[in-house]
Amino acid sequence: MRRILWVTFVLLTIGILGPSVFGEEERWIRIGLIQNQSTLELTTFQAGEQLVAVIDGIEQAIPFEGTQLIFTWDGQQILVNNVPVSAGRIILKPGTSLLGWNQRRYRGELIVTAINGKLQLVNRLLLEDYLRGVVPKEVPPAWPLAALKAQAIAARTYTAASFNRHGKDGFDLCAATHCQVYGGADGETPMTDEAVLETAGQVIVYNGKIISAAYHASSGGYTKDAAGVWGFSTPYLVSVPDWDQNSPYTAWNRALDWNQVQGLISRSYPKIGRAYRVVPEAYNSLGYCTKIKLLGDLGTVTVTAEQFRVLLGLPSANVQLGMVYGPEPWIHLWWVPGRNYPEAIILGNSATGMTVEVLSPPWDQPDAWAWLRDKEPVQLVIKGAGYGHGVGLSQWGAKGMADAGFNERQILEYYYKGVRIVSLDEVR
Ligand SMILES: [Zn+2]
Repeated sequence: MRRILWVTFVLLTIGILGPSVFGEEERWIRIGLIQNQSTLELTTFQAGEQLVAVIDGIEQAIPFEGTQLIFTWDGQQILVNNVPVSAGRIILKPGTSLLGWNQRRYRGELIVTAINGKLQLVNRLLLEDYLRGVVPKEVPPAWPLAALKAQAIAARTYTAASFNRHGKDGFDLCAATHCQVYGGADGETPMTDEAVLETAGQVIVYNGKIISAAYHASSGGYTKDAAGVWGFSTPYLVSVPDWDQNSPYTAWNRALDWNQVQGLISRSYPKIGRAYRVVPEAYNSLGYCTKIKLLGDLGTVTVTAEQFRVLLGLPSANVQLGMVYGPEPWIHLWWVPGRNYPEAIILGNSATGMTVEVLSPPWDQPDAWAWLRDKEPVQLVIKGAGYGHGVGLSQWGAKGMADAGFNERQILEYYYKGVRIVSLDEVR
């Protein structure tokens, strides 16, 4: 008897410590799909399917017919198709088909919880299955496999660093851009599945710790130091020349209506009053603004290019600026790196940007802007490059490197300096 107990104990211990229990293939994650709902509609995809649920901790069959389960809260209980079922939490286990919500299918469990009289829906599933629903939301599945694998490892690393990010709400990550966009099982593709499977469990570490795996679409020529964008330096997030030459975002233009710009500035910086001009204050070696002064009738404020990008919803922070003044004849001011005053031209037509006359305003006079006093700002004109914050892995750069024959490790070690790729099991 004692011997049997001892053997059982040894087997249990091996089971608990061994990789089959704690290995990456067994790691679960909770994704918050939606909160604060008065009704939730879940579906199965096979009529008459038997569903098992854990209701308030007890496993039992859930009463329903057809394919639809409508969850509501009556003030005291969660109702399923109008039948009171639970006072707190229902964990739905998938049957022969996957469970569905909002016209999408999800792997793993769907968990309905009542919180303060409202319903919350969480998808609890294996980390690797979750990544199958993330990678195709980030990069086109038709890209070369090495680029997909680099993305899979970066997304896994980002996820591992974000476990419990929404802990106070009872889940790990949300399914939106705030954390990482996740489309459930319907977004899965054979090639992105292969990228996840072939890199299973792999994460990026620096000095043995999981890195903050920042990534973006395309840097516009050079990736950025984290210090310049977020204000704190990170040894592995440093600027490197990008392989994003074939990105569709290498150059972009915006002409924003000045009233719209004024509104956005007032909302974020009400203290400066009505904004009447924006002026570059500093440039980097590539000729893009690093600091921009916003001038208003009550004061001024200087923002970083990254704050400017977020303020105006621009594709990237690599910007050069100009302003158009009206009414006709339209005057276009264009700031050139290294000069205190902008170039000024008269535009024949504000839409085509056709130059009619180059001006020489009295910029050296004490009241240098007085010559423009009869004009009002009409547009803010921006020329830029890149898409995203520019820090860490460049997705279009990863594609460029993969096209040139580099593998996922070479790609990741290029964009994240001094890192290693290891199994998640080695880290925890
Ligand atoms: Zn989130």
